[in-house]
Amino acid sequence: MDVFGKLSTYDFGEVHFCLDKATQLKAIVAIHDSRLGPALGGCRFIEYDTDEAAYIDALRLARGMTYKAALAGLAHGGGKSVIIRPKSRFDRVALFRAFGQFIENLRGHYITAEDSGTGLEDMEIVRTVTKHVTGIDPSHGGSGDPSPFTALGVRRGIEACVKFKLGKNDLRGVHVAVQGVGHVGYHLCKELHQAGAKLTVADVDPHKSERANREFGAAIAPLDKIAHVECDVFAPCALGAGINDETVPHLRAPIVAGAANNQLAEPRHGNDLHARGILYAPDYAINAGGLVNVAQEVIGYDAKAARERTLKIYDTIYEICDRSRKLDAPTYKVADIMVEEKLAAAARK
Ligand code: NAD
Repeated sequence: MDVFGKLSTYDFGEVHFCLDKATQLKAIVAIHDSRLGPALGGCRFIEYDTDEAAYIDALRLARGMTYKAALAGLAHGGGKSVIIRPKSRFDRVALFRAFGQFIENLRGHYITAEDSGTGLEDMEIVRTVTKHVTGIDPSHGGSGDPSPFTALGVRRGIEACVKFKLGKNDLRGVHVAVQGVGHVGYHLCKELHQAGAKLTVADVDPHKSERANREFGAAIAPLDKIAHVECDVFAPCALGAGINDETVPHLRAPIVAGAANNQLAEPRHGNDLHARGILYAPDYAINAGGLVNVAQEVIGYDAKAARERTLKIYDTIYEICDRSRKLDAPTYKVADIMVEEKLAAAARK
């Protein structure tokens, strides 16, 4: 594996490796950029076919965190950790304790949190070894479930897009098609319903769509038709790559704004949306509410402050829309430019 070549591709940064034979811990901490502050990002604990796949996942995800934190105005760089899930039996408590020691040895240069495959219980174990951890139990000063904050930020991002594209000051009567009503999608529907929006939803789990129907009067669309619904906003809140060769030509919404990570299957799909005159709220800009909430935990958790900061996602999205129009450039490119400006300004200080 070309270790340094990959670092250069992803514009790094530094990477730390830890092998602890006693617990089978094989962990990677990737710190993409720390010009704005200590790197913050979750710990992924999944099986990987190869060490290289884990290494590249860590690099890719850490870089994404730099962009998300910078655009949200946080004093944090981007980092991510990956623990390669052992294929044989292992002691979870011992493994996460060893991981905590690894994080402690980095002396706060990287702060960890939950991600795919890890949860509150794991972070509580990590907490016994290091203070450089977030996503812990609210009874220990933690910030709790990030999903309502992510949904709040997405609602604000939708409001900015609706103002910019449709000239409307609020969401009354605005029709939003929500793809995926899981943790974030459910809370988003609640926010939108309270703001007077009309909803259509789809979820692979019919119980979740039915709940949105019952609680918010949402219409239910077939899974393969939710992206085709004639509406004001299409909100992808399920998996990534929802904006792809199949969906772009069928979209009938003038706005795409949702919570899912990595919505564009490829960057060129962002160009396609721009060419079609569809306003796309860049995923990492609109879905930063959960990160804002977790970042608040680092300086002493305060739900009110986290909420106020999350509300500012409106301004970020509006600025992206405005600059996109002035430059005639796709919004995802404008968001990247805004991040690069912030990082360059931090480097000059
Ligand atoms: P979740 O797993 O709770 O919800 C996803 C939902 O999508 C599930 O209900 C699932 O059944 C449904 N789904 C899966 N495939 C689908 C499909 N093809 N069509 C319709 N529904 C489908 O996850 P979540 O925490 O709500 O996160 C949703 C998205 O937002 C993810 O992409 C996640 O990475 C991103 N995100 C979440 C947060 C957060 O705070 N949880 C923060 C930032 C970004």
